[in-house]
Amino acid sequence: MKEKLVFATNNAHKLEEVSAMLGERIELLSLRDIGCHADIPETGTTLEENALLKARYVNEHFNTDCFADDTGLEVEALGGEPGVYSARYAGGEGHDSVANMNKLLARLKGVENRRARFRTVIALIRGGQTYEFEGIVEGHITTEPHGDGGFGYDPVFVPEGYDRTFAELGDVKNHISHRARAVQKLVDFLKSGL
Ligand code: IMP
Repeated sequence: MKEKLVFATNNAHKLEEVSAMLGERIELLSLRDIGCHADIPETGTTLEENALLKARYVNEHFNTDCFADDTGLEVEALGGEPGVYSARYAGGEGHDSVANMNKLLARLKGVENRRARFRTVIALIRGGQTYEFEGIVEGHITTEPHGDGGFGYDPVFVPEGYDRTFAELGDVKNHISHRARAVQKLVDFLKSGL
């Protein structure tokens, strides 16, 4: 019988990406699939805490194995900001990417050190045990946005080894991204036990 595993998200793109990497043996379920319509609180102060909060919530309320992810952009000259607050950096409910990017560029105006990294943490609760997987991509922040692909901070982030932003890199991004790296570690771990 197929192992069922919940990914604590309703993001269709993320589900599809992970599902394709997992192959046939594991059936991936979304929050919607298990009837979880709660707005799971993300009150942690680190990516690790938030990923674990989400995974725990589902594990405890639905009594099922589960994993959850959380991602942040960490800018060296800003002491790791916006980090865990990346989605709501410019305030409000968050997810206003243009406002977030404008705030970031304003804070980095005239700053020489533009080093930054995207970091994804995945927390997995399986068989009562907790595991963590991390994916990082190093790079730098541009002085103005370039490109219209991707989402979030993609137009202002250039990954190391490239001279274009994530928003200009198209499908290349999906292969080298922080999320792809964390997911690959999770998938390797899950497959090793099959
Ligand atoms: P989440 O944990 O995947 O929801 O990501 C939190 C926030 O980080 C998003 O709302 C975006 O602002 C930012 N973010 C996450 N992943 C990416 C990415 O791949 N490119 C650009 N921004 C991202």
